[in-house]
Amino acid sequence: MTARIIDGKAFAATLRQRVGAAVAGLKADHGLTPGLAVVLVGEDPASEIYVRNKGLQTVEAGMASFEYKLPATTSEAELLALVGQLNADAGVHGILVQLPLPKHISEAAVINAIDPDKDVDGFHVINAGRLATGQPALVPCTPYGCLLLLKDALGDLAGKSAVVIGRSNIVGKPMAQLLLAESCTVTVAHSKTRDLPAVVAGADIVVAAVGRPRMVTGDWIKPGAAVIDVGINRIPAPEKGEGATRVVGDVDFASAAAVAGAITPVPGGVGPMTIACLLRNTVVAACRQAGLADPAGL
Ligand code: NAD
Repeated sequence: MTARIIDGKAFAATLRQRVGAAVAGLKADHGLTPGLAVVLVGEDPASEIYVRNKGLQTVEAGMASFEYKLPATTSEAELLALVGQLNADAGVHGILVQLPLPKHISEAAVINAIDPDKDVDGFHVINAGRLATGQPALVPCTPYGCLLLLKDALGDLAGKSAVVIGRSNIVGKPMAQLLLAESCTVTVAHSKTRDLPAVVAGADIVVAAVGRPRMVTGDWIKPGAAVIDVGINRIPAPEKGEGATRVVGDVDFASAAAVAGAITPVPGGVGPMTIACLLRNTVVAACRQAGLADPAGL
């Protein structure tokens, strides 16, 4: 193996500490306690785990956590009414509606009903537009976490060639915008891209956000490139016992790590950064709503 392992778990822990310090400062200097409201509709087990972890880490960072668990039968109008109530609540600085929502509710309608200044997921069309036009935005947590890891590993990204595989609104597109803002030369690849291995072969930076286990292999990677693996794919793991599963990324770690200069593992790479960046976004949102500057070091 040649690649340096990018330790997202450790980086996320230090980011959470910085968030905690910023929260303590806001309380002491301004009597301000940032608050995050998380709304879960229905009983998706994975979403329940995410929501619980978000609540725990919010409290650990010294912030207020408000959890709303609604039944799967909740109507779109009822959910929109709750969002309106949270928009108007001065103690709530960040609002996150856990996706996916039940099929009878329009995700776009709900996301775009959130006050953009409280949209700590950064999915609102206003925040997407602000990001695309270089205005202060709340940026989606997972790609922002990837950017922090890349800057930590590589320093200045200007002029580097970056390939983002995946064009979703929550990862691929905002990732491409963030890299463009860092003056990378960005290619966005997707399911219709021709000869993906050849596209990836020219990249100094590869961000894989596809949802296909171990799709990107070492023979695609330019020697020395930085590889960020966003994928979270659960695959059977018979070696751990019958019916057991384990999580792998979109990158074939063993072969990619033999050629890359730096690489994130799965788990322990991008995953832990997402909630840490959510906490960061909540503090930033609270500061902006209070007319304060963004906290230093976040
Ligand atoms: P998505 O399904 O919305 O988008 C996948 C993208 O991959 C699409 O744009 C599609 O065009 C592209 N794609 C599909 N097949 C392809 C192929 N064969 N070649 C090239 N591109 C292809 O997924 P998403 O929400 O962006 O998530 C992507 C992955 O990241 C998933 O594994 C997801 O679980 C993971 N994820 C992780 C975190 C985290 O916190 N680490 C957060 C969000 C998503």
